[in-house]
Amino acid sequence: MINNKKISKFAISIIEDLKKNNYQGYLVGGCVRDLLCGLEPKDFDIATNATPEQIRKVFKASRIIGKRFKLVHVFNRSELIEVATFRSGDDINNDGNLVQDQSGKIIRDNIWGGLEQDSYRRDFTINSLYYCPLSKKIVGHEDGMKHIHEKKVVSIGDPKKRFAEDPVRCLRALRFSNKLNFKVDPKIKDAIYEKGHLLSGISNARIFDEFCKIFLGGMAEKNYRKMTSFGLSKYLVTTNPEKSEFTSRLIIEALRNTDKRLKNNQSVTPGFLIAALLWPELLEKSIAKGEINLRKFFRSMDQVLRKQQKITAIPRKFHSYIKDIWVLQLKLHSRIGRQPYKTLKHPRFRAAYDFMLIREKAANEINNLGKWWTKFQRNDDNLKKSLIKIINENDTQESFKTFGFSQELR
Ligand code: ATP
Ligand code: MG
Repeated sequence: MINNKKISKFAISIIEDLKKNNYQGYLVGGCVRDLLCGLEPKDFDIATNATPEQIRKVFKASRIIGKRFKLVHVFNRSELIEVATFRSGDDINNDGNLVQDQSGKIIRDNIWGGLEQDSYRRDFTINSLYYCPLSKKIVGHEDGMKHIHEKKVVSIGDPKKRFAEDPVRCLRALRFSNKLNFKVDPKIKDAIYEKGHLLSGISNARIFDEFCKIFLGGMAEKNYRKMTSFGLSKYLVTTNPEKSEFTSRLIIEALRNTDKRLKNNQSVTPGFLIAALLWPELLEKSIAKGEINLRKFFRSMDQVLRKQQKITAIPRKFHSYIKDIWVLQLKLHSRIGRQPYKTLKHPRFRAAYDFMLIREKAANEINNLGKWWTKFQRNDDNLKKSLIKIINENDTQESFKTFGFSQELR
């Protein structure tokens, strides 16, 4: 059923070593699900009855991580595999290793258990299958296989309770349904409507991780549309698509561009996407009397970032990158004298230019700025000179006041 050739050799060797030490060891979760669905797993997670300390002893190159959810990273030169101890999911002794808050949210889960208990505390039946590559047997939730065949995302237990325990499961249900082309169980839909609002209480670090999985996995547009239809996109992006025609088009164009790049094996970064998604927010804050006010523009950059930062942590290293892309949008509009040469040399020029093309598409802008810059990048000094000359002769007053954003400002 599952072809072991598709499994990381390192992961299999870890399971062999666990067995040699008389522990159980299984591949579990997303990798088993993806293999059964004919997809290539992103990573291989292992579950075992060994405690983190015991796992640590079996593998020299390993490290215990996490507090809320303790597990062990086992690594070699090129791979890192997460090995987690079976958890029981309930706290019979109530000794504080499983902690829930008022809404029922689990804030700590470190009670060890057996495989069966572990299979019930997982989120969806399709994520609750365990595969032993040595015996080639699959065990786990009794409905897991059935729901893979029926192409359904079904919660383990009452989704209202499970989503209150961990609201991120709302996002996960929709993401898996898109990724696998599975239907979402109607009970899950109801639970999302009822419990989705609890996403506002999730840490920005966790939402950022989920943001990356949702938007940088090749299904950004589809995921955004689905999240929006359940009213969940506001927990991922501060920009309100209903603000204007341009805003909603820009969001979609930016997501489409991300999907397209991934398809073409081009790099993507959350920084670029966040710069694009927040642009309409920045513009809105920068307008005075129908024009861009530069002071407002510069002052608003941090404000707009901070607002988004409240919902998705934005790693430090992206902040200046995002602001560079924004400031360069202004610079791309000043094409006289030496300025275009300076702009072209900027280390973020390429990203800024790519984003300008997305803006033009979203705005249906026909002022040819994109075309101009496409030509200006060519390795041809005479062409560069003549391009600048044309601009100087046609002195485009209008575009100085609005930086050519006229369509975007409506
Ligand atoms: P992907 O890696 O494609 O996002 P995945 O299913 O592997 O999908 P992970 O976040 O890597 O997702 O988690 C691995 C497994 O851990 C899941 O398959 C599931 O069994 C369990 N799991 C992860 N997150 C949760 C959660 N929030 N609640 C319950 N179980 C979870
Ligand atoms: Mg995974």
